[in-house]
Parts: sequence; structure tokens; C-alpha cells
Amino acid sequence: LFITLEGGDGSGKTTQAALLQEWLESEGRTVVRTREPGGTPFGVEVREIVLHSREHITPRAEALLYAADRAHHVATVVRPALERGEVVLQDRYLDSSVAYQGAGRVLDAAEVRDLSLWAAEGLLPDLTILLDLDEDAARRRLDAANKRFDRLEAEKAEFHRRVREAYLGLAEAEADRFLVVDASLPPEEIAKVIRERLAAAGVG
Ligand code: C5P
Ligand code: MG
Repeated sequence: LFITLEGGDGSGKTTQAALLQEWLESEGRTVVRTREPGGTPFGVEVREIVLHSREHITPRAEALLYAADRAHHVATVVRPALERGEVVLQDRYLDSSVAYQGAGRVLDAAEVRDLSLWAAEGLLPDLTILLDLDEDAARRRLDAANKRFDRLEAEKAEFHRRVREAYLGLAEAEADRFLVVDASLPPEEIAKVIRERLAAAGVG
């Protein structure tokens, strides 16, 4: 079972991943919790480059770096765990690339998706949880936690609006794969919605 969490910075992916892991383990499942970029030692190096490069990286170069991280991560962590019958619970996956490199950096969404699928040898999640939050709420949350949006684009509300719209479009196009949750709800309520969806699918 391959579950991914998607959404903007400050939408609560990390919190929900922790709550979901706890629940799945209490139901007797073995969970591999991981993330992109940075789910492998190589990925940590890629993450450092892509997020902190001294030079502004061009959009296509950035997309290729995320794809390289993904190719290695899927081959060495995700697929082996799935083959062992474990649950992979992952913070960000290919929908992040379509939203950020596609809509955010204005590359062609279909091309970015194809690149990701090539990198991942076609692996799609069984369930993708989209934590949907408007930009102002996300910003308030990150300010409260004394964090910042990670990127230079932090200050550009327009970038985040495009990313959010792209996510919602993906969820609409693949309604069966996605569960969209209002991320402004209290964390425990969100966790409950997620558990109910999984329970309905026979998990737990
Ligand atoms: O969620 P996480 O902290 O791992 O993401 C770090 C940053 O990487 C995010 O702020 C996001 O803007 C960026 N990112 C991206 N494209 C991706 C994945 C993450 O631009 N495919
Ligand atoms: Mg996070």
C-alpha cells in the first residue's frame, strides 16, 4: 500500500504522516515513512542542491533533479518496501513535481508528469491525501511556528496560488486516487477523515 501526502508548506503533512503512521502501526501494519526530496542519502544531497544552490537553478534543471531523487528513491526504498508488503507513507511525490515544477515554474504539466513516471517506472500511489490550505492560512501557521516558506518564492503569493490550483486540478482529474481534506481543520479531525477513508478501503 502506497500512500502519499501532498499540499503546500505549512499544510500539516508531517503532522498527519505521524498520526497516520501511529494508527497504521496500531493496526499491525509495518510502515515505512519517507519523503521526497531527501528520502535516501543521495536524495539528501540532491535536496541540498535543489533547495540551497548558490546559483538560481533553471526550471528544467530543477525538474530533472527532483526526478533523479525520485528515480533513486523509488528503486531503492519505495518498491522494495512495497514488495515486502509494507505500507509506504510518503511526504510528497510526483504530484508535488506537477504542482511545483509544472504550475509553479510554468513547465508543461503533462511533460513533468511523464518525466516523473519515467523516473518512477510508472509507480502511482494507491491513495494521495491532499491537505488543502489557502496561502494566508499557511503563512499564518508558518509564522506562528516561526518557520518560513522554504524558497525565494516564499514572498510570491502568486506562486503558491498556482501550486494550490494545480493540486486541486490534479485531485479533480484523478478523483479515485485523491482524498482532499480541508487542512484548516484541527489535526485530530483531519486524521479521522483519513482513517475513515482507509477503513472504507479495507485498511486497518
Ligand atoms: O515539504 P518539504 O519541506 O520537503 O519541501 C521543501 C520545499 O521544496 C518546499 O518548500 C517546496 O517548495 C519545494 N519542492 C518543490 N518541488 C517539489 C518538492 C518540493 O519545489 N517537487
Ligand atoms: Mg513538512
